[in-house]
Amino acid sequence: MGTVADNVAAVRERIAKAAVRSGRRPEDVRLIAVTKTVGPELIKEALAAGITEFGENRVQEAAGKVPVFPEASWHLIGHLQTNKAKQAVRLFRLIHSLDSLRLAETLERRAEAEGCTVKCLVEVNVAGEATKYGVTPEELPGLVRAVSALRHIEIEGLMTVAPYVENPEEVRPVFRRLAELAREINALGLPRVNMKELSMGMSGDFEVAIEEGATMVRIGTAIFGRRDP
Ligand SMILES: *Cc1c(COP(=O)(O)O)cnc(C)c1O
Repeated sequence: MGTVADNVAAVRERIAKAAVRSGRRPEDVRLIAVTKTVGPELIKEALAAGITEFGENRVQEAAGKVPVFPEASWHLIGHLQTNKAKQAVRLFRLIHSLDSLRLAETLERRAEAEGCTVKCLVEVNVAGEATKYGVTPEELPGLVRAVSALRHIEIEGLMTVAPYVENPEEVRPVFRRLAELAREINALGLPRVNMKELSMGMSGDFEVAIEEGATMVRIGTAIFGRRDP
């Protein structure tokens, strides 16, 4: 692996190529650098390399980093427990992992108390993996409809974590399906629901995700190197 700056440049280059290849503009794909297990020194290097958005999968870990780097925008990309909702509302610009009405109702109460709105993506378990969070494609319309009644929550799109595969072409149908689901939900014309973001694609599969319409890719390993287990 090179330096963080080298890696960021290489990832940006690959993002741009995948975008252009599929008739999109590189600037329409946002790079979210995933900093779980990554310490402040490397986060500083990423900031110096022009990264402005970071993703964390645990509230607890993020709580130690967000105040150190307030100039950055922070995204919650991992499962959120209702008892961490209050902290999450304060820490994150966007919650990618809304996956139940119960969580939405808790976020609604917290947002109302804080006098703010919470921006969320709904996580969809497109491939139906038992080990993954997210609603099934069948559950998605019902959840979005119910959440659209909550006045302090804005649904800005969908997120998925594709199954781990050697050849990313194998998960192209997963990304394609997420894009299709977003179009279906948009057609419902629900209040406070605007499917403008598709958060899909990680180090191993982001180019395919971009070809299928990703507007946000969440990249850890390709920028910071392999995480210690
Ligand atoms: C860790 C993580 C990523 C980044 O994965 P890499 O393969 O290291 O790029 C993306 N999304 C989620 C939800 C994650 O937990």
